[in-house]
Amino acid sequence: MEIERRVETSFENDCCFLRVLIFCANFAQRMSIKVHIDCNNFYASCEVSSRPDLYGKPVVVANCNEAGGGIILALTKEAKTLGLKRGNPVFRVKELLAKNNVAVFPANIPKYVDISKKIMQVVIASGIVQDFIQYSVDEFFGTIPVDDADELRIYIGKVKDAIMQSTGIPVSCGASLTNTLAKVATWFAKHYPAYHEICVLPKDKIDMALRKLPIEDVWGIGRASAPRLHYDNINTAYEFAFKSESYIKQRFSIAGVRTWKELHGVSCIDVSSPPKQRSIMLSRTFAYMTDSEETLHTYISNYAAGTARKLRDQHSVCCTITTFIVTNRHRDDLSQYGNSATRRLTTPTADTVEIVKGALDMLHQIFRSGYQYKKAGVILGDISDDRAIQLDLFTSQNENPKRTRKLMETTDSINTRFGMNKIRLASQGYEEKNYKMKEVQQNKSESTEDT
Ligand SMILES: [Mg+2]
Repeated sequence: MEIERRVETSFENDCCFLRVLIFCANFAQRMSIKVHIDCNNFYASCEVSSRPDLYGKPVVVANCNEAGGGIILALTKEAKTLGLKRGNPVFRVKELLAKNNVAVFPANIPKYVDISKKIMQVVIASGIVQDFIQYSVDEFFGTIPVDDADELRIYIGKVKDAIMQSTGIPVSCGASLTNTLAKVATWFAKHYPAYHEICVLPKDKIDMALRKLPIEDVWGIGRASAPRLHYDNINTAYEFAFKSESYIKQRFSIAGVRTWKELHGVSCIDVSSPPKQRSIMLSRTFAYMTDSEETLHTYISNYAAGTARKLRDQHSVCCTITTFIVTNRHRDDLSQYGNSATRRLTTPTADTVEIVKGALDMLHQIFRSGYQYKKAGVILGDISDDRAIQLDLFTSQNENPKRTRKLMETTDSINTRFGMNKIRLASQGYEEKNYKMKEVQQNKSESTEDT
């Protein structure tokens, strides 16, 4: 009797447990709304955020400078209304820039990376977005456990305001059933001012939205595949989603099938681990040629420190460090020289000190006096995951990657919190000196990006 009762009780408990499990599963499924956050004109917004006097004015960021042959990488909407576009070579639009008093900034990637990290911190601290991850320097994904569209809009608005208040960066946000659909929603948030940069795309509005979205603007399709799709009479996201699964499987790769499923509301694209770069390069063409080893020393230190930071950001380590220098090949009247040297490390590293030291040793090997140098750079190669570092038999305790990793993490977090390069190596040059350099060359802007 006692045994029977115990079995019954146990059965009831199991049922109850199961019911709770099913409820939780339904709850989780119903509530898991994907959110996508995309910074508006990110590089240009970063520059405006540190120069409030430029707010509402045309600003462009170029990968070089006015004196060189750089191209426009990012621009504010005020610059866009002047007819300027991303990809415009600066020298071609020089007059337009000067006539409209457009502020031109050389790209300062480490600064943008730091601001991006700050956005991460702000959103995580808000506690609103779960599983928040950085997909690229200006894009983030997460989930919000709310499925009411109005409520979602309020929460996303809070996150958007928090980012603006803490970093001064305007963002556009989209929310829907899958990551791809959340990106579709962001497209609408950006293209239709009535959304005020927040678009929530509920299930019953998906078809309507897909009908308006050009196929080349679907995440994962891209402009390269567009001509083939147009040829097949697929011009909108809806026409793509409307095709049968077997048609998609026949015609497209697994990536195409995943995109198709996501457009149907089935989550299958994992954004938690974006692909890692297999080599990392930082190089610049200088506005003015230099024959000074000391100047190159400072540039190479900064490029090496920048690549090391990028390496740590993707949780990797490298095994090779390459430094290169070249003269101006367009100057037939000058002697030409170019060279590179690579150091192979015994223990993979992401330590700034070691990478800068390696890069400078290589510079010392290849530098020849009497030449006018126009470009230099650092490339990190043989990159692998930082979780599995193979130690060399003779690695000392001081060189232990765990110790240096702790130091680097601390340095990175201080730099993220208090501003780029607050902690830097002496070889990178001093801030005051670099500021002066920038002022003097404001319009003939020097190309070091770490100043
Ligand atoms: Mg963006």
